[in-house]
Amino acid sequence: MKRILVTGGAGFIGSHLCERLVNEGHDVICLDNFYSGSKENVWHLIGKPNFELVRHDVVNPYWAEVDEIYNLACPASPIYYQHDPIQTTKTSVFGAFHMLGLARRTHCKILQASTSEVYGDPNVHPQPETYWGNVNPHGERSCYDEGKRCAEALFFDYHRLHHVRIKIIRIFNTYGPRMAINDGRVVSNFVVQALKGEDITIYGDGQQTRSFQYVSDLIDGMTRVMATGDDFTGPVNLGNPGEFTMLELAELVLKKVGGKSKLVFKPLPSDDPKMRRPDITKAKTELGWEPKVKLDEGLDQIIDYFRTKLDIR
Ligand code: NAD
Ligand code: UDP
Repeated sequence: MKRILVTGGAGFIGSHLCERLVNEGHDVICLDNFYSGSKENVWHLIGKPNFELVRHDVVNPYWAEVDEIYNLACPASPIYYQHDPIQTTKTSVFGAFHMLGLARRTHCKILQASTSEVYGDPNVHPQPETYWGNVNPHGERSCYDEGKRCAEALFFDYHRLHHVRIKIIRIFNTYGPRMAINDGRVVSNFVVQALKGEDITIYGDGQQTRSFQYVSDLIDGMTRVMATGDDFTGPVNLGNPGEFTMLELAELVLKKVGGKSKLVFKPLPSDDPKMRRPDITKAKTELGWEPKVKLDEGLDQIIDYFRTKLDIR
């Protein structure tokens, strides 16, 4: 049994990770400032003897005796991270700095939830970890993209200088139950709109692509990465290589949900990547990991979740 700190533990991914670690019998500290996450996501864990919920902002230092840190604190939806871009950069950079300081003092392993956004609007497709990316350094997405890139740099500097035991994963678009109803990301938006019979909002012409990973596959990949030896630092891509246009996604959601929603076209947000698909060769060969849940099956799960949440039969 290990003592494990999960920052951003009350968010969408963090809550699934906490649940998995608590069920495995670990002593889990879930740390969150509830900016884009909620207590409701971990309600079912509160009261268990091996789960602790702490309200804390990672922009400020935090101290605890732990064996492992999963650093997830950071809003991931463009709407949330662009709402207060300075706080987003502070969360990524100061958050990484403080957690790395804690990892250094406690000699524990630390995993960083990095992102496919470090590849920006890629001109290499699919994206391998060796690709350095095509990122606008001063656009509306930069607070997130550059914040995460700076965090990766800090992780490697702490590793080289202070021998901190780092692990970096680059997460590609992940979806599943416990995404917030107003999260703003595409899968939850389309499902909620379809269930409510509202227009489905396609940004741009809908020909841009993304590769969607179901949350249980990601949690499996994350825990595998944490279990690797000290020579495995990453970065490693964790994503599902199935690639879809936003129009294809909208049509699939509409087919499953039924109803009368129409597609409406809205302006494309600035610097919106035109395509994205992970090259997962490294995860396959070095971790023996690959995703199992197809979009078709994962969508059924998230549709059921929002149906119950919105009380729509
Ligand atoms: P989320 O917004 O649901 O979760 C983020 C959590 O971090 C929330 O609970 C939020 O309240 C908390 N948080 C934000 N700022 C904080 C701060 N300053 N101090 C403490 N807590 C803070 O998003 P998610 O999808 O669960 O993403 C989790 C992590 O995975 C993020 O770091 C994100 O960048 C990364 N990621 C996610 C995806 C994805 O598709 N979901 C893709 C790439 C990377
Ligand atoms: N998108 C869309 N309609 C929406 C929300 C998003 O067409 O209601 C598009 C968005 O422009 C992007 C893709 O879906 O091209 C994925 O957006 P999301 O915010 O989920 O993630 P990210 O852009 O960070 O990959």
